[in-house]
Amino acid sequence: MQAIKRNILLNPGPATTTDTVKMAQVVPDICPRERDFANLMKQLRTDLLRIAHAPADDFTAVLFCGSGTINIDICLNSLLPAEGRVLVLNNGAYSSRAVEVCDYYGLPHIDLKSSVYEPVDLKRVEQVLQDNHDIAMVYTTHHETGTGILNPIREIGSLAHRFGATFVVDTTSSLGMIPFDMVADNVDFCMASAQKGLMGMAGLSFVIGRESLIQRSKDYPKRSYYCNLYMQYDYFARTGEMHFTPPVQTVYAAIQAVKEYFEEGETAKWARHRRTFEAIHEGLAALGFRNVIRREWQSGLVVSVLYPDDEHWDFERVHDRCYEAGFTIYPGKISTTNTFRLCSLGTIDVPDIEAFFRVLRQALEAEGIQIPVRYKD
Ligand SMILES: *Cc1c(COP(=O)(O)O)cnc(C)c1O
Repeated sequence: MQAIKRNILLNPGPATTTDTVKMAQVVPDICPRERDFANLMKQLRTDLLRIAHAPADDFTAVLFCGSGTINIDICLNSLLPAEGRVLVLNNGAYSSRAVEVCDYYGLPHIDLKSSVYEPVDLKRVEQVLQDNHDIAMVYTTHHETGTGILNPIREIGSLAHRFGATFVVDTTSSLGMIPFDMVADNVDFCMASAQKGLMGMAGLSFVIGRESLIQRSKDYPKRSYYCNLYMQYDYFARTGEMHFTPPVQTVYAAIQAVKEYFEEGETAKWARHRRTFEAIHEGLAALGFRNVIRREWQSGLVVSVLYPDDEHWDFERVHDRCYEAGFTIYPGKISTTNTFRLCSLGTIDVPDIEAFFRVLRQALEAEGIQIPVRYKD
């Protein structure tokens, strides 16, 4: 196998992948309507259920061609009955995206905004559910990738169910990393795409959900043609295929990535992500960088770092120096705060982080930025 340059992606996905996953895409041409390809997708859907600990008797995995946002679109537009409202628990950029989807489709919804610096507040959720009996769906983001905050989904799910609502969670940046249990976590629908927790390629996304609720949605208002959950579910049930052309080579890569997921194992993989995250914290502390989010609320996958107050600090220039050395870091404003992110997604480990911090230190020195970095207060 030809050597492929290994870049360390510290951005919040797509993540660094193994060469075996990259090379799994190089396959003989095949028409995806062939039985052989349908069998591959069938096994992949079964394996995705295992990753989410979703019992195959009650749950199903439905594949889509698109980036992770397609799942947000699909779940919201497909799973809302005509007379119901969506409650979006919104403490970050990805839940705000869900609110935008509601706006675009004209879905009746409550945008329960709360601080982007804190997890969702259960008391407020309970109050809103108590006051609004037409809420048919509670929606939130498990791991808000924009900040690195983890939301208490198990408790939210329990509240949603107590008030008879379906619980839909965006698990795009947690599934396959943070151990997750569909039933114990009280989740009816979760979602992800192949390029984050699974360490596959971008372009394949999936929704895992309760089959009975998908069947019930058959007669809900049809708000999209391409992005309808029931339609895709039904097509898989009848033919074993995606309704429209699947991302063929990306599916092969996802199958290899899932194989490597089970070889590494849920517990060992999460331990690796955690120690990589701890190494990021150590490296940042050694250079004097500050966190934006309180440590106990952090997911273990994303660290949001405050820009230092140094006249020589220029994120783009520091980024470019790191990028040239094979390391990608990622900017992002949180509310009005200027930050950048370092993430422990992908097939990376502690030595990669140590190598990164040697490069970052050199970049800071070359830019004339004082070490330890300075803050005004
Ligand atoms: C990455 C991500 C998505 C999907 O974003 P795309 O750009 O469409 O891939 C959705 N939700 C969360 C929480 C994410 O981290």
